[in-house]
Amino acid sequence: MTTMRDTDRALVQAASAVAKLRCRSASHTAASAARTAEGRVLTGVNVVHRAGDTCAEVVALGAAVTQGVGALETIVTVGDRGRTVISPCERCQRLLADHSPSLRVIVGPVEDPRVVPVTELLLTPDVAD
Ligand SMILES: [Zn+2]
Repeated sequence: MTTMRDTDRALVQAASAVAKLRCRSASHTAASAARTAEGRVLTGVNVVHRAGDTCAEVVALGAAVTQGVGALETIVTVGDRGRTVISPCERCQRLLADHSPSLRVIVGPVEDPRVVPVTELLLTPDVAD
């Protein structure tokens, strides 16, 4: 487990700001913010659809790839318009670990979040609860 840095708290705030702005319907309920080692921040919201849901992490990763960004350093996803931190689902954990093996993931209660390596999330799924 890793300590929260000021940049991690700023990332939670960035995700919360996107959630407050863009998650205003049942179609969009979560927002992710991802930071690169260079300090660039990419964001994305989930897409809920009867044809299948796309997680906010996937949209943020897609935005990063679209903009030519390499590996991500840290990611956080928030729900309930920024009032909760959401742990990536198992599929996203695998996707993120494949793309950015040293990724740090912010998890835990929004009032006391913590950082865990994505590989640790994969090994112990309940660490995020
Ligand atoms: Zn997911």
